[in-house]
Amino acid sequence: METKNYKVTEILHHLGEEDLPFGAVNPPIFQTSIFSFKTFADFKKAMQDETSHYIYSRGNNPTVNLVEEKIAELEHGEKAKLVSSGVAAIAGSMMAFLESGDHVISVRDVYSWTKTLLDRYLKRFNVTHTYVEGTDPEEIERNINENTKIIYLESPTTFSFKIQDLKRIAEIAKKHGIKTIIDNSWATPIFQNPLDYGIDLVVHSVSKYLGGHSDVVAGVIVGSKEDILHIFTTEFQNIGTVPDPFMAWLVLRGLRTLHIRMPIHYENTLKVIDFLKNEEKITEINYPFFERNPQYELAKKEMRGGSGLFSFKIKTTSEDDIAKFTDSLKFFKLAVSWGGYESLVMPSAVSRSSSDDKDKLSLVRVHIGLEEPDLLIDDLKEALLQIS
Ligand SMILES: *Cc1c(COP(=O)(O)O)cnc(C)c1O
Repeated sequence: METKNYKVTEILHHLGEEDLPFGAVNPPIFQTSIFSFKTFADFKKAMQDETSHYIYSRGNNPTVNLVEEKIAELEHGEKAKLVSSGVAAIAGSMMAFLESGDHVISVRDVYSWTKTLLDRYLKRFNVTHTYVEGTDPEEIERNINENTKIIYLESPTTFSFKIQDLKRIAEIAKKHGIKTIIDNSWATPIFQNPLDYGIDLVVHSVSKYLGGHSDVVAGVIVGSKEDILHIFTTEFQNIGTVPDPFMAWLVLRGLRTLHIRMPIHYENTLKVIDFLKNEEKITEINYPFFERNPQYELAKKEMRGGSGLFSFKIKTTSEDDIAKFTDSLKFFKLAVSWGGYESLVMPSAVSRSSSDDKDKLSLVRVHIGLEEPDLLIDDLKEALLQIS
């Protein structure tokens, strides 16, 4: 794959913005649905290839394309397609390469709606799948059938925080002619570039760190020019998971500080984990860069750092205890999602059904935001005292 060697700030602050009108520092929002042509000939030329012309904003839009150009460079890819949500990126990237009768291998602990896509949606179109743990590349190879078309990864997974050996899995997939897709929302391109390991497509929930301010829902797919144009002309234009220009502009605004935000999430998280690891009410900490994590060495090899999302278990079997803990936190908001400036807590017990195993009850996921870590540590300390 051909990429230029841009520095991160050059991408985030300059790339694609060399000639803004009136010397504007920030690009205008092209809030337009259609683009007009001066002549029949120009119109005809554009209509022959919508992938490289501005015709209608369900296809290309300059504000959207600027964000795509930046994210493609950040991920060391040739091209990117911004879409209306992370889920649209996952569904679009998979469906573009699947037909009835095909088979997908996926990591078991993937994002819940990725699971739904495989378990319910793609099942309707006779696409089957096999879940694997993901920690052993040979397990993946053993599950390859002749109709396997996609190996779907998420490294790390965002409740259990297991990682996959991307280089090894990409080698296996290439040997069998299978496409690899990874959800890289957690590490972001600041800390991990899966395309460098030979993975074919990277997807992100841009709603998380790339947006970074909990004010936008968006997704992106990055890969080779050929793959992205294939997705553009198949799933994207037909299903219509279109990003609107204002959303793209908000993403651009979030991206300006991505390289500043990520190392602070990382630093703060290590400090909070340093506190939690000595607390006797905490029985387990799941974070790739926690030194007791069994995959710590692989994490260091594959990623340049970690983000602010991790999970831990509290020594209790009572939902009341979990509720006491979360409800007495002052600076962690109870919410889904993550990746913004703010700290969040998501007890897995809120989405637990009575049939789930008891073990899951005590699992709590936190997102460490950009607050002073001492503030968060004191908050957690107080909340843990509420549990008997
Ligand atoms: C949130 C999330 C998604 C889905 O993204 P949306 O923008 O909410 O559609 C996908 N993958 C992971 C890992 C996520 O956390």
